[in-house]
Amino acid sequence: MSSEMSAGLKLLHDLLLKLAEAEGAMAEGPRLIGVAERQVALGEQQIEAQKQTIKDVRKAADDFNLKLKTKEGEILKLQGQLNTATSNKEYDIIKGQIETGKRDKGDIEEQGLMGLEAVDQAQKKLKELEAELQKRKQQVQTAKANFDAEKPKLEGNITSLQTQIAECEKVIPASEQATWKRLRAAHGSAALSPLDDDFCAACSNRVNTQDQVRIRTGNLVLCRGCGRILY
Ligand SMILES: [Zn+2]
Repeated sequence: MSSEMSAGLKLLHDLLLKLAEAEGAMAEGPRLIGVAERQVALGEQQIEAQKQTIKDVRKAADDFNLKLKTKEGEILKLQGQLNTATSNKEYDIIKGQIETGKRDKGDIEEQGLMGLEAVDQAQKKLKELEAELQKRKQQVQTAKANFDAEKPKLEGNITSLQTQIAECEKVIPASEQATWKRLRAAHGSAALSPLDDDFCAACSNRVNTQDQVRIRTGNLVLCRGCGRILY
């Protein structure tokens, strides 16, 4: 037969478990908001980095454009020198230099086009990141709105459980209240454990006959294995 004390402790344990669950639900909202806010911060960092990338690739494209102008100037100059060549040998050398210059110009043009393509790609990526950031900001708003809607109910639930627990704690004798307060502060709902046949349900330690008798006769008994209050 379970004592009045054991029945009271069981109720107390149930209430503490419910309180732990309610407090967990209360912590979940801010946790989700925090996760969403970190995603926004990350998105903002990615956008800053992408803007720098755009600057870099645009600078590279501009450099190729400048190189191209320089190369074109060189070729024009060489073409001018062709007319003033004083020997066939000199003429052939300049002609060779012009050919090389034109090949170089082709290479630069190709690199320049690739550079412009890179600018386009980088700008496209920036647009995607900006759209993604808007989505993430929306997720923060949704998480906050959800939590605001849930909060009063959760708070009411927690307050109600705390009131019931305070009432229920009276089952513990005044002489043991200090022990109880210490255990509850340290372990919360894990401060209590039911007997499962002859064993502590929490740690599976066998509870000796003497302790079992003491539990049944309404004493506050701590498990010798884990220190929880047994009921
Ligand atoms: Zn135990």
